[in-house]
Amino acid sequence: MRSVTVVEVEATTKAGTVGEDVLTVHELITKTNTDGEPYFLTKCESGRGRGTPTEWLRQVNCRECLAE
Ligand SMILES: [Zn+2]
Repeated sequence: MRSVTVVEVEATTKAGTVGEDVLTVHELITKTNTDGEPYFLTKCESGRGRGTPTEWLRQVNCRECLAE
């Protein structure tokens, strides 16, 4: 059994929405998995577990993302 280590490398910061809520623009953090494939995470907790964020060329307006 081989173990897989996920290396989370913070690269660039983008903005995007999650799920049905297209009004709240979160700050997206680009991570890269061990296969070199990038994926997005929202900076705040509210966007987590609601699917893959959609990238937008919009201003971040999520208070939680901006607060940190
Ligand atoms: Zn947010």
